[in-house]
Amino acid sequence: MSSSRIKYQIHSLLRHAVPYWICVGIFFFAAFFVVLMTLRHQEQDRARQLLHYYQTIYQQSGPSGLQLSYTAARDHTDSFLRLEGPNLRLILLTNDGQNETQTLPDFSSFPKSIDLVWHALQPGRSRGPWTVAATPLADGNTLQIGINSGKSLHLLQRMGRILLQLAILFLPLCCIPAWIAARRSSETIRSLTEQINNMSSEVTRELQVNRKTGPEGKNLIKAVNRLLTRHRQLTRELQESMDNVAHDLRTPMTRLRSIAEYGLHKGDDNAHLREALADCLEESDRLLSMLNTMLNVAEAEADSVKLDLQPVPLENSINDVLDLYSIIAEEQGVAIHFTPQPDLVILADRQRISQVWANLLDNAIKYNSTEITISSFRQDNMAQIRIRDNGMGISENELNHVWDRLFRGDRSRSKPGLGLGLTLVRATVNSHDGTIEVSSTINQGTTFTIHLPIPEST
Ligand code: ADP
Repeated sequence: MSSSRIKYQIHSLLRHAVPYWICVGIFFFAAFFVVLMTLRHQEQDRARQLLHYYQTIYQQSGPSGLQLSYTAARDHTDSFLRLEGPNLRLILLTNDGQNETQTLPDFSSFPKSIDLVWHALQPGRSRGPWTVAATPLADGNTLQIGINSGKSLHLLQRMGRILLQLAILFLPLCCIPAWIAARRSSETIRSLTEQINNMSSEVTRELQVNRKTGPEGKNLIKAVNRLLTRHRQLTRELQESMDNVAHDLRTPMTRLRSIAEYGLHKGDDNAHLREALADCLEESDRLLSMLNTMLNVAEAEADSVKLDLQPVPLENSINDVLDLYSIIAEEQGVAIHFTPQPDLVILADRQRISQVWANLLDNAIKYNSTEITISSFRQDNMAQIRIRDNGMGISENELNHVWDRLFRGDRSRSKPGLGLGLTLVRATVNSHDGTIEVSSTINQGTTFTIHLPIPEST
C-alpha cells in the first residue's frame, strides 16, 4: 500500500473518529455533572432540615436550649451550629466534633443580609468545603448551620477519576465504528474510481450502486450520473452542431470551388472570368457572414460582449429597420403595421438591438407572412415589444428548439438561412437583461414578445 494511501486512511479514520470522541466526552461530562448536582442537593437538603429543626428549638428554649439540643444530637461530627448577633457578634458556636480537618469557614465573608442562603465556603484546599444554611431569627440574630462537604467532595473526585478512566478506555473503542464508517465511505469512492477507470472515453454507461454503498454514496453516484447525462447531451449537441456547420460550410465551399473551376476553364474569356470572380466574392461574403454570425452568437452567449448601453427611442429604432425592409416587404406583398407607444425609450446598444429587430422581421417575411403587426408599450419598468406574423408558424415540438444553435425547422429548409438568427436574438436580448418568448400556431402565425429595460429616469 502506498504511503499516500496509508496517510489518507489514517486521516479518514481520524476524521470519522472525532465525532465519536466528542460524543463520549459530552456523555462522561454530563454523567459527572449529574453526580455533582445530586451530591450538592443532598447536602443542601440535610442542612435545610437541621436549620429548620434548630430554629424551632431556639424559638422554644433560646440559646441554652439550642446548645443542649445540639450537644445531645449524635450526628453533628461534621457540622457546626452558630448563632450570630448584629455586627457579627458571636453568641454561640458549637462544633464538638471539630478536628484538624474541620477548620471553620471565615464568617466575615458570609453575606450580611440573608434569608436561607446556601454558601459553599472553602477555607483551604485540603479541608474541604462547607455547605452553610442560614436564616434570620425573630429577635434579630442569625442562625447558621454548616455541613462539612469534604466526604462528598472526596466521593466526587473518585467518581471523576473513574469517569475519566472510562472515557480514556472508550477513546480507542470509538475507533472501531469510525473505522467501519471510514471503510464504507472509501469503499464507495474506490468503486466509483474503478467504474470510471473502466469506462470507455464515450461515457455510455451509468455508474452503478453496489450493496455496500451507503446513502451518501448513493447521492454522490446519482449526482455523478446526472453530470454524465448532461455531458452526454452536450457532446451530442456539439457533434450535431459540428455536423451542421460542416454541412453548411460544404455547400458554399463546393459552389465556390465549381465557380472558380468554371472561371479557370473560361480563362481566356474576360466576361466569363469577371462573372466567375463576382460569384466567388458573393459566395465568400456568404461564408464570411455565416462565420461572423457564429462568432457573434458565441460572444453574446459567453456574455463577453461590451454593450454601449444608452437611452434609445424605441419607435425610431424599429422604424430605421422597417425602412431597410420596406422594399423587400413590398416586393413580396407583405403589409407591415407598427403601432408604437410614443416617447417610449429603452436602455440598449443601438446597433445590436437593431440586429434583433432585423432578424425577427427577416424571419417573419421569409416564412410566408402576408401581414406583420408590431406593437410596443410600457409595462411597469420594462418596454414590451410584440412582433406578430401570419406566416407558416412553428410546430409544437420545434418550438422548444428554435433558440438552439443551427436549428432549422423542417418546413423552412427550402428558405435560405443558417439556423443562427434566433440564437443570436435571444443571446442579445438576454445580455440587455431582457427576455424573449415565442408562441406559434402552425399555418396561422408566430408571435415574438420581447421585454427590455427602460432607463431609470423615465
Ligand atoms: P433560420 O431562419 O436561418 O433558419 P433562425 O434561428 O432565425 O434560423 O430560426 C430558426 C428556425 O425557427 C427557422 O428555421 C424556422 O423553422 C423557425 N422560425 C423562426 N422564425 C419564424 C417565423 N417567424 N415563422 C415561422 N418559423 C420561424
